[in-house]
Amino acid sequence: MASKEEKRRRAALVQAIVAEDTKKAIEEMPISLVHLGQLFDHLDEQVENGCDHTPRITTAFLTSNNLSHDSILPWLQEQGGFCDCEILANVEEIWESEISKNT
Ligand SMILES: [Zn+2]
Repeated sequence: MASKEEKRRRAALVQAIVAEDTKKAIEEMPISLVHLGQLFDHLDEQVENGCDHTPRITTAFLTSNNLSHDSILPWLQEQGGFCDCEILANVEEIWESEISKNT
C-alpha cells in the first residue's frame, strides 16, 4: 500500500510530466501564445454580435496578422474550435492559464 509520502511523490511526478507536455505543446503550436491571447480578446469583443458558425472573425484576424490559415485553422479544429464561438468556448479554456502565465 502506498504511503502518504509515496502518493505525494507520485503526484509531483505526474505534475512534472504534465508541465513538460504543456511546454512541448506550446513549442509545437502553430501560433504564439501572445497572438493566441490577442485572438481570444478579439473574439471576445466580436462574438457578442453573434457567431455565423464559421471561423470568419478568426480567419480575418489571422489575415490581418499575417498568420498561416493552413496550419492554425486545423490546429484550432483539433481542439473543438470549428467556428468563432467554439474557438472561444473550447480552445480558450485549454490555453487561458498558459497565456496568463506566459504573457
Ligand atoms: Zn459558432
